Amino acid sequence: MSEPSIFTRILDGDIPSEIIAETENVFAIRDIAPQAPVHLLVIPKSADYRNVVELAAGDPALLAEMVGLANTLAAEHTDGDFRLIFNTGPNAGQTVFHVHAHVLGGGLEEHTL
Ligand code: AMP
Repeated sequence: MSEPSIFTRILDGDIPSEIIAETENVFAIRDIAPQAPVHLLVIPKSADYRNVVELAAGDPALLAEMVGLANTLAAEHTDGDFRLIFNTGPNAGQTVFHVHAHVLGGGLEEHTL
């Protein structure tokens, strides 16, 4: 068995972090190192999928549940507009291999991809 991911440890209460929202299968926290005025992470409770490609192939409904929670949070925490980022692979900046979406909002108008 591999070690539980940092997100599983947060969900289990082993690492302190406020769970700001949850649905049946998904939860959300604030990113500890925010890259935008609003920077949240939306995470499946299950660590079964390492990245969004595996998730889309294995459980598209769970991916849709993540997008829905991201949309709800963007409406609550900013003006409703948001950027949704799934870093996929270490060369793209992925550091935690428990799939998660970065929800970025606020003051993004001048950013380029
Ligand atoms: P990624 O680099 O796409 O795998 O994203 C992992 C994210 O998790 C990074 O943006 C980190 O800042 C964030 N992170 C790591 N540890 C914690 C933590 N304890 N609480 C909240 N966010 C965290």
